[in-house]
Amino acid sequence: MRKKIGLILGVALLLIAVLSGCGKTPEDSAAGNGSAVESSTTAGNLVVKMLNVGQGDAILIQTSEQTVLIDTSDIDERDKLRRELTKAGVKKIDKVILTHPHADHIGGMEVVLDEFEVKEVYDNGMPSTSKIYLNYMKKLKAKGINHKALKAGDVVDFGGGASFHVYAPTEAHQQEGRQKGYKHDPNNESVVGKLVFGEFAMMFTGDAEKKEEEPIVGGFGTDLKAQVLKAGHHGSKTSSSKEFLRAVQPETALISCGAGNDYGHPHKETMKKYKALHLKIFETDKNGTITVSTDGKTYTVTPEQGGEQ
Ligand SMILES: [Zn+2]
Repeated sequence: MRKKIGLILGVALLLIAVLSGCGKTPEDSAAGNGSAVESSTTAGNLVVKMLNVGQGDAILIQTSEQTVLIDTSDIDERDKLRRELTKAGVKKIDKVILTHPHADHIGGMEVVLDEFEVKEVYDNGMPSTSKIYLNYMKKLKAKGINHKALKAGDVVDFGGGASFHVYAPTEAHQQEGRQKGYKHDPNNESVVGKLVFGEFAMMFTGDAEKKEEEPIVGGFGTDLKAQVLKAGHHGSKTSSSKEFLRAVQPETALISCGAGNDYGHPHKETMKKYKALHLKIFETDKNGTITVSTDGKTYTVTPEQGGEQ
């Protein structure tokens, strides 16, 4: 009798196991778990807006939990920045990431700090002696806002299952950069990192040029893969090296630049490279604000006006 009960129990347990999915082959489970993890950690949609803020960068990332701003465009573009942030319904900014202390990236910081509630600020950890940088540091201190340096290997949680994986600058580079008399090359000290949300990824480059791209490719290789690329340095020919593009393998490139800018951004050499790779190209000077929406699996790019360049 006891044996019989044991047998019935055994069959019942087996049935429960099969019904609950434990009977999957190891391969099934591996594949199933992979996708289950992705969908349970990503919540809702992620929206990235490359804001139309003239010659400079300001990119807004909205997850289901946080609002993040990468760069703030130039001081002269502050009205555009204010208008764009207001249009996007932004009141509170959880994180501001400043890629490097050039005016066309940190110039709008005054507006951001004065007119929006900012929780945390991240930068490349390299001090600058420029007035605009010193003003920004002074204001941060006065407002008591947390300030952190980002370095390669850091992962910043953007909430809702989105995270930002930092590739540059390295800690060693930062230490050198903090030495007195260090000759700074701000573009090539840019924070470079990848936004990851489920299977979607977008590479952020600040104004990194080939000089900074090269060691990143050497250090991270195909880890850099991302569907969307924020063109380095406003589409300058000094950035988007073949090696970097080969590692990132983007499908879409977004370029932030002002109409008729003095630098000739984006350079025709960059456009040629992107076109040879059949990238979908969008530019803020022609398309206005460019919105990328993703559910963590597929993504859509919606320009405010016009189509692909
Ligand atoms: Zn720039």
